[in-house]
Amino acid sequence: MLFRQLFDLASFTYSYLLADDASREAVLIDPVFEQFERDKALVRELGLTLRYTLETHVHADHVTGAWLLKQRCGSGIALSEHSGAEGASRLLAHGERLGFGAHALAVRATPGHTSGCLTYVLDDHRMAFTGDSLLIRGCGRTDFQQGDARTLYESVRGKLLSLPEGTRLYPGHDYRGRTETTVAEERRYNPRLGDGRSLEQFVELMGRLNLPYPRRMDEAVPANLASGVTEPEALAPGLERGDDWAPVRRTESGVPVVTCEWLAAHRGEVRVVDVREHVEFCGPLGHVEGAELVPLATLAHAAAGLDRAAPVVTVCAFGTRSATAATLLRELGFARVASLHGGMVRWNEAGLPVVEVMGDRGHQDVALWQGMDI
Ligand code: FE
Repeated sequence: MLFRQLFDLASFTYSYLLADDASREAVLIDPVFEQFERDKALVRELGLTLRYTLETHVHADHVTGAWLLKQRCGSGIALSEHSGAEGASRLLAHGERLGFGAHALAVRATPGHTSGCLTYVLDDHRMAFTGDSLLIRGCGRTDFQQGDARTLYESVRGKLLSLPEGTRLYPGHDYRGRTETTVAEERRYNPRLGDGRSLEQFVELMGRLNLPYPRRMDEAVPANLASGVTEPEALAPGLERGDDWAPVRRTESGVPVVTCEWLAAHRGEVRVVDVREHVEFCGPLGHVEGAELVPLATLAHAAAGLDRAAPVVTVCAFGTRSATAATLLRELGFARVASLHGGMVRWNEAGLPVVEVMGDRGHQDVALWQGMDI
């Protein structure tokens, strides 16, 4: 079986692609709206037929990519019968099975984080995808979306930690870079729900967590209750709230973009943040005059020192990393930010002026550069 664990940098969400080697039938668990292009490209590259996107629950921290993938890849949308969501192709009940080629996932209702939480267990119990019901050394919160600590305790202890000890568990998120765990590990080390933790201890602990209101909840929950359907207005060319500083348009996956021609004419009015590596910045594509080099990996850190009110245009070679950068900056509270559509490749094709600093070293690095971006 083909298995890919995918990560969304902005929301710390894991998506999981599972496919049958022979038939190429696939399912994708918890896709993220902003990662639609990445997921679609991977499915196509690997020659897969995406049968379903599966939600573990109605998320409060990101919008699902289910509807976009349905539009572009023809996949069905499956989630819990208790989710309250519209637009599903299949509403799943506890005990159902969902097949892809020679494999199948068994549906286990694991409510408590939300009333419609599901865990998907691979037929041979080798893997289980727990959503937010059970995280690595933790669990999802229980203070909104019909969450209930008693229910979550029963779900996790009765339906997840009762799986074979060697079952590998894959969570909906991890905020520390951990990727997987096992039933044995969580029974031993989970401080909330591991062996020896009583129901009363768990309820008491969850009752005093006092967590902040999720940043994207008001946007994400209604969108996810509609299976991630995008408002037609959001995709139409034109201005949106906060986009009054430039003729910002949206890509299919909702990323705000401006054209090379617009940036060339307004270069002095915006902060141009080039998120490529140094070798590319000084490489054959050159860079936009006045651009600041902030490699993507350092952007979150560097953003702390930037003025959130000033308009920012992010730039990379093709527009992929800069789209991630623009999404990240929006998440961090930058209201006026857009990605340069088509990146430095399109900028060069349009014959717009570039700063070139490529010396011998730059030429040597061309091969390195060619392997980067997309
Ligand atoms: Fe959640």
